[in-house]
Amino acid sequence: MPTVARVTCPRCGAQFQTAVEQLLDVRVDPTATERLLGGLVNVARCPRCGFAAPLDLPLLYHDPNKEAALLYLPLSAGKTEAERQQAAGRLTRRLMDSLPKEERKGYLFQPETFVTMESFIKRIYELEGVGPEVLERRQARSRLLQALLEAEPAQWESLLEEQADLVDKPLFTTLLALEEQIRELQAQGGEIAEDELRRLKQLVDFFAERYPDFRRLQEASRAVAELLREPTYARLVEAFVAQPDEEDIDRLVALTFDQLDYHFFNEFVRRIEEAPSEEEAERLREVRRRVLAARDRVVEAQRKAVEERLALIDKLLRTEEVEKMLRSHLGLIDDLFLQTINGLIATAEEENDRALADRLRSLLDQAVKLITRLLPPEVLLARQVLAAQDRAEVARLLDERPQIAAAVAGLLEEIAAAAEQMGDKTGADRARLRLADVRAWLAAHGEGGAAPSPSASASQAADDEAASRGFIISTKK
Ligand SMILES: [Zn+2]
Repeated sequence: MPTVARVTCPRCGAQFQTAVEQLLDVRVDPTATERLLGGLVNVARCPRCGFAAPLDLPLLYHDPNKEAALLYLPLSAGKTEAERQQAAGRLTRRLMDSLPKEERKGYLFQPETFVTMESFIKRIYELEGVGPEVLERRQARSRLLQALLEAEPAQWESLLEEQADLVDKPLFTTLLALEEQIRELQAQGGEIAEDELRRLKQLVDFFAERYPDFRRLQEASRAVAELLREPTYARLVEAFVAQPDEEDIDRLVALTFDQLDYHFFNEFVRRIEEAPSEEEAERLREVRRRVLAARDRVVEAQRKAVEERLALIDKLLRTEEVEKMLRSHLGLIDDLFLQTINGLIATAEEENDRALADRLRSLLDQAVKLITRLLPPEVLLARQVLAAQDRAEVARLLDERPQIAAAVAGLLEEIAAAAEQMGDKTGADRARLRLADVRAWLAAHGEGGAAPSPSASASQAADDEAASRGFIISTKK
């Protein structure tokens, strides 16, 4: 949970409050990794002059599934080594105290410690399966894109030839994502320098002319954008047919899973029957086979998600510290958890196991109370919106809480941007899909304006006092 700190802007002297986080647990907050890698954690932006800088606070990152505890302990965490160790000790204790006894494992006592943010982030990427080479290539690609955008079009040819080994599908998708982000910014009325925009468009056209693979990707992403703007079964089939590779089909299946129903496959069959040639019909059949295979993989992933929640319910039934067990698994307490536990209650009642049904009901009650208390309403609503099946369901959800709809849009934007940053295309698309639904609702309700940023919820003071290179942080007593 984020806390709030008062900071003073080093440039203009303005004082303001900003969210700070020193304990990141991926089981409590499933967006923690993406937010951290996306540079969204402990970064303050001055509301008066716009100056932004990292706060450079000690940070303990915990991924229980990988049994990993990583500590970022910058030199600014204390004047002496002893002071820094005290800061580290406080964070470790805070993490320990948040866990029920049976969850306190040995590795937590000795977190891997990093003095620089760079090495800390590198290690987290490594845990996520992104090795140093992949990361280096990724950085080299963004440097290349940056260089292209800053160079004159006449230099593009030679720049690309010099780094021909970096011209690959990920480079293409990064460029397309950049274009998409800028278009989104514009749609929200954000300010973008005219020449910057022109240069980007020129570069996109240059790529489209030069690389057929880029053109295919561009068409695929346009088909998806078209679908997101106004979902129909015909557009859904169209979007699948436009995807160049199996991985792209996988991603689209994950994104549109709830729509892959009887009507969708009917539409597909119609397309196959009306194909102008046998060759085209066979191509469409191949796409359909891939969609079916990808759908099976999603079903399998969902089964795993249910199992994870069943395991948590089992732990809850055994523990003496229900509240802590719930809190330390907050990320798993979602609609699927509620459905799963409701299913168990129904079964227990059928089997006349009164005692079990009552215990499960009391767990359910505690879980619901906890998430309503701990999570800001817009975060809860954003979660529900993300899990919604279609635009109609999103509209129903927003109808119940119209006053926070705009805040939900802001949150979804952040989620999409963070997922994009991390290379999680599916997550980004999913957030954008629902964001489009929320925007449609806002437009229909005459609230198309800019979404306010979500506010931090808790108001405990930050653990440590630190004067970083930028903002001066003072502890709120
Ligand atoms: Zn300022």
